[in-house]
Amino acid sequence: MFEPVTEADRETIAQQLGRPPRALRAIAARCPSGHPAVVQTSPRLENGTPFPTLYYLTCPRLASLVGRLEASGLMKEMTDRLAVDDELAAAYQRAHESYLAQRDAIEPLGHQVTAGGMPGRVKCLHVHLAHTLACGPGVNPFGDETVELLRPDWPSGDCAPVIP
Ligand SMILES: [Zn+2]
Repeated sequence: MFEPVTEADRETIAQQLGRPPRALRAIAARCPSGHPAVVQTSPRLENGTPFPTLYYLTCPRLASLVGRLEASGLMKEMTDRLAVDDELAAAYQRAHESYLAQRDAIEPLGHQVTAGGMPGRVKCLHVHLAHTLACGPGVNPFGDETVELLRPDWPSGDCAPVIP
């Protein structure tokens, strides 16, 4: 369930990002310890610049875990699987459409570009993990895979045991 952003959340997110957060709409997921893990952002920044990434991973510990996964070359392997696995490609297409529909419901940007490489490539696992944490399992297949791959380092789904 998305929650309104409190002043305390805003301060936490500024610390997490190292800069004031922009275009915040809601807290889309929290680490079990309580701090924001994923925020939902507006399709445009306050100055009108399009910001197509609807769900943004803010927890620096989770972001660092995902960065380690990305460094292993996983995204090329995932992209290659899209060409040979029709079911996966269809699920990824649906993830793209769902993401776009949710964003367009807030404000259409007049284009179909979503985030993370959807629907044809896998370019950013942070985006996919954020999508899965915000919308639950079964929506984004690569977000779901990322959750599973992180599980050994992230057994409780909380960043607390993770070394920052
Ligand atoms: Zn966290």
